[in-house]
Amino acid sequence: MAYHIEPKPLHELTIAELAQRLRGGKLTSVELTHHYLERIKRLDPQLNAFVTVAADAALAAATHADARLARGEGGPLTGIPIAHKDIFCTRGLRTSCGSRMLDNFIAPYDATAVERLAAAGAVVLGKTNMDEFAMGSSNETSFYGPVKNPWDLDRVPGGSSGGSAAAVAARLCAAATGTDTGGSIRQPAALCGITGIKPTYGRVSRWGMIAFASSLDQAGPMTRSAEDAALLLQAMAGFDPRDSTSAEEAVPDYGAQLGTDLAGLRIGLPREYFGAGLDAGVAASIQGAIREYERLGARIIDISLPNSPLSVPVYYVVAPAECSSNLARFDGVRYGHRCEAPRDLEDLYKCSRAEGFGSEVKRRIMIGTYALSAGYYDAYYLKAQQIRHLISDDFRRAFEQVDVIMGPTSPTTAFPLGAKMDDPVAMYLNDIYTIATNLAGLPGISIPVAPVDGMPVGLQIIGDYFQEGRLLNIAHRLQQATDWHLAAPPEV
Ligand code: GLN
Repeated sequence: MAYHIEPKPLHELTIAELAQRLRGGKLTSVELTHHYLERIKRLDPQLNAFVTVAADAALAAATHADARLARGEGGPLTGIPIAHKDIFCTRGLRTSCGSRMLDNFIAPYDATAVERLAAAGAVVLGKTNMDEFAMGSSNETSFYGPVKNPWDLDRVPGGSSGGSAAAVAARLCAAATGTDTGGSIRQPAALCGITGIKPTYGRVSRWGMIAFASSLDQAGPMTRSAEDAALLLQAMAGFDPRDSTSAEEAVPDYGAQLGTDLAGLRIGLPREYFGAGLDAGVAASIQGAIREYERLGARIIDISLPNSPLSVPVYYVVAPAECSSNLARFDGVRYGHRCEAPRDLEDLYKCSRAEGFGSEVKRRIMIGTYALSAGYYDAYYLKAQQIRHLISDDFRRAFEQVDVIMGPTSPTTAFPLGAKMDDPVAMYLNDIYTIATNLAGLPGISIPVAPVDGMPVGLQIIGDYFQEGRLLNIAHRLQQATDWHLAAPPEV
């Protein structure tokens, strides 16, 4: 008897599989782009993952990609439909940053990350929803309304790259970009059951990425597998003279590192990441993944990051301080929202900012300006910077003993919409395991492990500086040995 094997739908194929079909002439980018646009049209009204869909531009880019492919040109991303977090400037396509302030802003240039992915042939389907100016952990601070978690529409997708995470999880695009200042790639990746990597600070250019906290911000890919993430990061990473903090460090071949064996890998488990506040189900799921790594040949070593409990308070001085300075440019004069009929120049500033910014952004600006003001600077900002050093030192010492550090990405699975909106401190504690890596500038990846009560859980793997290739390989080996990353949410 012959079995009829259902072909996988296009949106279940990995980027490598899609690239093979595109190159082999079995599929065109225009077909694939239509497929994803149809899914966005049908499924996004329930999710609200996209702020802007650029159907015509996407189809034009797909046509161009098909022409290149027909000539035997292009690479693994040529013709692959992706989405950009709406924090990346895109020429001719609105960049709102999730804010009323930039609801009417059309950038005259592409961010470097956007430009590089376009040069690699990726097709941009649109821009994804996000917390306003990337401030949030639940995507509820967006001017465009909350994003819903595709696994349960009553729950948050995480933030601030929640639109990108939901779009990738719901198979509305093959991959998306995100940014991570304190966890905003890894935490929504965890809560939506996808793979997300925050590279080393300086690995990906910040040029054209609307600044939140410049010493912490970093862009990275959000995908369904580590293998796909390697393809995107390959295109995004590398020195950019337009970003003075961009690293002049050669970009290794991430794909070539994916075959490395894990025998003898030393995994550090920080005791601070498994203490009070961690959900018991999430803890069990993380332990299960760690046992899997032991089966793959890794060795587990207990470590301590003694200053990590201070990372949230330090971050909530440093990040608001930097944001209060970065957001000073939104004054109603040069670009963005301008209020009607101001009395004078000062009133123009005041009413434009009062109307343009939402309450979380205003809270951050107030905290930041307070912490930077004369008389308080030494007590808060300087103190926070000193502790930031201690946090980096903890990691430096840990990496003398271990190759990577593992733990949960987030203390719980996705929480219900509205559950933490009245309690900023409870909201801030979501990033307790992710923030320290931003303060130290280290890379971290989140990958899906066993779900709890049907909701995704993310395992976080932190590496030493510029060890993205190693992190991707370690993630990839688990994804070859298990199928947690293949689970798809129900079609909404
Ligand atoms: N949730 C954190 C915040 O609200 C981190 C956000 C981010 O990484 N962009 O600031």
